[in-house]
Amino acid sequence: MNTEETPAAAQIEISICVPVYNEEDSVGPMHAAINAALDPLGCPYEIVFVDDGSTDETLRRLEQIAADDPRLSLVRFQRNYGQTAAMTAGIEHARGRYLVTMDGDLQNDPLDIPMMLDKLKEGYDLVVGWRIKRQDKFLSRKLPSKIANWLIGKVTGLPIRDNGCSLKVYRSELIKQVPLYSDMHRFIPAMTIPLGARVAQVGVRHHARRFGTSKYGLSRVFKVLLDLLSIKTLLLFARQPLSSFLRLAGLAALCALLSALLMRSQGQLLVVEMAVAGLFGSLSLYLILLGLVSAVTFQGTGNRFLPYDGDEKEPE
Ligand code: UDP
Ligand code: MG
Repeated sequence: MNTEETPAAAQIEISICVPVYNEEDSVGPMHAAINAALDPLGCPYEIVFVDDGSTDETLRRLEQIAADDPRLSLVRFQRNYGQTAAMTAGIEHARGRYLVTMDGDLQNDPLDIPMMLDKLKEGYDLVVGWRIKRQDKFLSRKLPSKIANWLIGKVTGLPIRDNGCSLKVYRSELIKQVPLYSDMHRFIPAMTIPLGARVAQVGVRHHARRFGTSKYGLSRVFKVLLDLLSIKTLLLFARQPLSSFLRLAGLAALCALLSALLMRSQGQLLVVEMAVAGLFGSLSLYLILLGLVSAVTFQGTGNRFLPYDGDEKEPE
């Protein structure tokens, strides 16, 4: 990954992080649209474009724009790593007090940013956009997304209308603590649950794609399901892995005990009950060991889900 710094890093108020992959015709208008939306705010801001290994003219065009605009910084991947990795690189590179993530294909509208920032300043840590009139195909995009949002809400306990909307505004110290990998840019609100983030949702504009093509097909459905499984596991085990495993081990031990009692009440040595009791007993032991290993791993890698210290007022 190569990065090109902007010159002076005065106290930046807002950082806009935009991952782009083969968006050569969109980056120019996107840059202009962000400036048009943020200039009236009159505060220092930066735009971080992350080129995710584009093979078209995207990078060249971004370099030309950056040459004339010191507020733009460029993070460059040598190959295509995917939207989550690109978004994460932008977030790590950003220096603003407030961070904004959005797509670079002009489907999200930077004009929504000031309104979302106002919402955040009411006392939230994360403001999630939901595309009220989403301009995508119904069967291949909107319907799967509706089902996914419902499922994610049920599984994580945090009902979000539009997890897939990249347009989000965060307090920088919150989003920099959220570990993102795989395709988890679609699960950012859920990933902030262990941090105790205060989340708000607001309706945002959405436009049909003007240039280029979408980078995703229906295969994303499987990725979403797999990521949902990882997230559920993380949410269950993130804070106290040992005690979570011990609870499961206790359950297995109980099953082993019940099988043994059943065996005794029958008054004879039953092969099946004995095997079942033995299996549950081993499972219980295995879970205890797994709990110990995960506790060690958890300490070794550092707990990234530290309680988040939101610095401003409570939402009304
Ligand atoms: N993107 C990226 N890397 C990828 C795929 C997508 O940086 O591997 C960027 C893409 O250029 C766009 C944003 O992520 O700025 C959203 O992608 P896309 O518009 O294809 O998604 P959709 O709107 O169709 O869900
Ligand atoms: Mg798009």
